Amino acid sequence: MSEAGTTRRVRRWVRPEIRGLEPYHVADARGMIKLDAMENPYPWPEAMRREWLEALSRAQVNRYPDAAAAALQQALRDVLSIPSDVEVVLGNGSDELIQTVQLVVGGPGRAVLAPVPTFAMYEMTATVTGGRFEGVPLDERFGLDVPAMLEAIERVTPACVFLTYPNNPTGNLFDVDAVEAVIEATDGLVVIDEAYHAYAKESFLSRVGQYENVVVMRTLSKIGLAGLRVGLLAGPIGWVQQFDKVRLPYNIGVLNQLSVAVALRHVDALNAQASAICAERDRLFGQLSRLDGLEVYPSRANFLLLRVRERDVDAVFRGLCERGVLVKNLSRPGSALAGCLRVSVGLAEENDAFLAALGAVLSA
Ligand SMILES: *Cc1c(COP(=O)(O)O)cnc(C)c1O
Repeated sequence: MSEAGTTRRVRRWVRPEIRGLEPYHVADARGMIKLDAMENPYPWPEAMRREWLEALSRAQVNRYPDAAAAALQQALRDVLSIPSDVEVVLGNGSDELIQTVQLVVGGPGRAVLAPVPTFAMYEMTATVTGGRFEGVPLDERFGLDVPAMLEAIERVTPACVFLTYPNNPTGNLFDVDAVEAVIEATDGLVVIDEAYHAYAKESFLSRVGQYENVVVMRTLSKIGLAGLRVGLLAGPIGWVQQFDKVRLPYNIGVLNQLSVAVALRHVDALNAQASAICAERDRLFGQLSRLDGLEVYPSRANFLLLRVRERDVDAVFRGLCERGVLVKNLSRPGSALAGCLRVSVGLAEENDAFLAALGAVLSA
């Protein structure tokens, strides 16, 4: 076996768009205060943990999981108040659902559209599935640029439009009127990604039955179950049946189904954590607003977007790392996020450590 031979075959057979992809980068966070991935920083309360371990001890991992995860689906419907005329399909995280949607409606010759900057997986998945991604710049306050969206819809006839509500990484909710204008102008599917619903509380779920082309995605990752990989798509039965065909059987493992069921019995505890995180977010926003050389954008999610002014943002990012704080560096020169860092809201003491580190870096 020769390495050159492998290289030749990879070049010949791996599709060029895959070879051209940058791998999704996950930073090494060992030993750091981890404020880069919008995780809920709170561990589970002790009583919940005991109930969980008890349930796990009865798990039958020699068997395949319930393929439809029916019990989990019902629990999610109850907790998320999914209307009865709306169907649901579960994913191994909503990342998997983004892929499922694009396997069904995207692909070669199809366009996938989203306002940018937004969540990177929409474009990444368009590339992987052989579709074409069309990004439409948000306006200068990160709102939807409706004329530009309508122009792009007219021009590329997207099979699918992704709208993140509130948007990641900008943190804002789009105007409802603007979202409705996009829905009404599009013949294709509009996926409203409500990954941060626990923090924003606003939703398009009640409108799913009102339009023929709207589905809503939720995930449990940002409310405190990131490790369990469970996301949900809710929509009209006609769409959901097609997604369900493409979903891999058994995509939600036995341990995940069981663990989420326990967590949902304690959803009040998770919601209380979300409220505490919102309060911390608002405190952090106030403190950051007072720092010179920084712009901080209002957020309805569990993170804040910052723009560093008149300083090298990469140096600020490195300075934070050296002080043991990991945030996300989103800056690309010349892009709408030039100079931008995104910080997830952590525990009060973690946020204080971040503020102290940032203050030190900015005054150095
Ligand atoms: C984090 C995030 C996701 C992915 O969530 P998982 O359920 O963990 O796969 C999807 N959409 C947006 C906008 C996100 O920020």
